[in-house]
Amino acid sequence: MGRKGREIVDMDVKELSNLLNKAYADEWLAYYQYWIGAKVVKGPLRGAVEAELVEHAKEELEHAEDLAERILQLGGTPLLKPEDWYRQTNCGYVAPEDPSAKKILEQNIKGEQCAIGVYQKLIDIIHGKDPITYQLVVDILADEVEHEEDLENLLEDLKLKK
Ligand code: FE
Ligand code: FE
Ligand code: MG
Repeated sequence: MGRKGREIVDMDVKELSNLLNKAYADEWLAYYQYWIGAKVVKGPLRGAVEAELVEHAKEELEHAEDLAERILQLGGTPLLKPEDWYRQTNCGYVAPEDPSAKKILEQNIKGEQCAIGVYQKLIDIIHGKDPITYQLVVDILADEVEHEEDLENLLEDLKLKK
């Protein structure tokens, strides 16, 4: 990013890019948790659940891309090694060892709730300090809110089916 572009950021850009890297780690882990969850999921409403997980995987990958671009604009480096995802993550990774649709939905709902908390905190930190990152994080937060709702609706449908 150009010098002026960086100058308008009213906080330590290194600190900001570290925070964005932690979210970037979360997004890659969320991506894989959805992607592999879609492969292994079993049980009632399997088709609908699989389709939603595939869609969310795609959207988490887009979040990772957008965060990487912003980190680069700020003069930082997106995490270069997958092992760093585990070191830097806020929300962690939960393997879908139990492939039942109910369990996978519950695990991913927890993940989304964690993500919503992370982005809300980030918004509080950067509010009034960096309009570009602010807008990016608000857009991502809106997606995570939608993800949580989609999964909760599916879980509700699943419970009604029994
Ligand atoms: Fe995301
Ligand atoms: Fe999400
Ligand atoms: Mg969705």
